[in-house]
Amino acid sequence: MNTRVIVAGVLSFAAGQAFADGLSGSVSYTDGGGTARPARRITVQVFAANPAGDTLVGEFRTDDAGAWSGSVLPPPGSFGYFVRAVAANDATRVFTVGGVVPYSVSAGGAPLGGGAIPPITIDTSGGNAERSFAVADALQTGWLYGSAMRGAAPARVNTTFPETGAGTASYYEPATGLHIRQWRRYAWDVLTHEYSHYLADIDSLDANPGGPHAFGVSNITPGPDGKLNGVRLAWGEALATYNGTAAQAVSAHPASPTTGDTVYTSLNTDTPASTFEVNLDTHAGTGTTGVNAGEGDETSVMRILWDLADGTGGSEPHDRVTLGHTSLYGMINNDIPGIDQLNGLWNHLITRPGTTDALRVDYGAIFEEYGVSPHPVGDLIGAALMDSDPAPTFEWLRRNNSDNDAFGLIVFDATFSTRLLDITIPGDVTSYTLTAGQWDTLNNHIGAARFVIRGSDTDQYTTGSYWSDAYGFTIIPVPGAVPLAALATVLCARRRRRS
Ligand SMILES: [Zn+2]
Repeated sequence: MNTRVIVAGVLSFAAGQAFADGLSGSVSYTDGGGTARPARRITVQVFAANPAGDTLVGEFRTDDAGAWSGSVLPPPGSFGYFVRAVAANDATRVFTVGGVVPYSVSAGGAPLGGGAIPPITIDTSGGNAERSFAVADALQTGWLYGSAMRGAAPARVNTTFPETGAGTASYYEPATGLHIRQWRRYAWDVLTHEYSHYLADIDSLDANPGGPHAFGVSNITPGPDGKLNGVRLAWGEALATYNGTAAQAVSAHPASPTTGDTVYTSLNTDTPASTFEVNLDTHAGTGTTGVNAGEGDETSVMRILWDLADGTGGSEPHDRVTLGHTSLYGMINNDIPGIDQLNGLWNHLITRPGTTDALRVDYGAIFEEYGVSPHPVGDLIGAALMDSDPAPTFEWLRRNNSDNDAFGLIVFDATFSTRLLDITIPGDVTSYTLTAGQWDTLNNHIGAARFVIRGSDTDQYTTGSYWSDAYGFTIIPVPGAVPLAALATVLCARRRRRS
């Protein structure tokens, strides 16, 4: 096809070519598996090749399929066109360390007269310029997600690639943007994690103090502000991993290796190639990631965020909540000013208008599953107690990295419509036997009952009280005793005698 367009107003341009040329083309890059993927929304510069000096004659953007088109007007003497793909899209511009012009790759030519320029495929197994397109496209998915969650496009952020400074961390820094190591160029989970640090910065979703951190380990330390810094670090990192993973669930992305699942994979492309994995939706993962070390551990926090947002899984009895990714982002962004730790989200969830005890129990089930809330145990669970039995004993595990140290007990009827008992448990203990008076109050209720243990860590400052899931037991009348209908009267009579 040879498109020649007469542009109004150009005809009087005596010295120049009076005709604009219509050009089109497409740009793709090879992903970590070697498959060509569209280079979405990148800048394409068209130059006229000219003995007097090559001249930029047009700048266009590819679409989501990597295609672009436009009209250009070459200066006199030009003998053809060439195209330069620039590592700049909606999300980012990618620079070498200290660079002032983003990476670009020149490829593809066409004679004067316009038409379709042969498709450009950037082989990212090449140099840093080529590799930068893989980095940019992963970040484009982060940008799509940010735009969808916020209802407004995030401003473009600079990326330094490959970061060559001390250490091995890829990171985000407000003043300079994203810094990505060479071996993370195909690590979408890492790239969208880092982009999510940027979102957290511009939307004030955290107060991350930074510093080293690892999955399955509490960041809370005994020193001054040790708890505050620890829960803030866990929150900031967990939120970045959650949002980066959710970005691939919500927004378009190529089916590149490690993308679009619930596993955070810190894919390492270079020698020694390695892959670390941790699942946000299960307890699975590499190394210590089966551990959920409480509100100071990013593992606990990211898994809680994921289960709050995602659908209810049939194989996950603890996951009965589906806030949705958009609602959860909106809640954190708009409804909880100054949020900087998991406790802020918990307190918001259980106190926001319309929240019932049944819903609090559903939230608690998720916080318990991932090691923050106490974990009820013992013979009472599922037991049938006669109202004449001795007062029952409730037992639990502390959880929250064994730091929960203050507890409460709430006993409900079967449908959570009534709190039959709501008490603070004295002391830092992991079991409690009701007093005679408390049991007397409770066993007025015949039938199914359900209880939660709530726990707080009061060290340095109080967090919680985090609810467990609800666990059942039944209170039954003495065998051969009066029919149920008459029971209330009998119990009242007995109580009167005691008083
Ligand atoms: Zn991070």
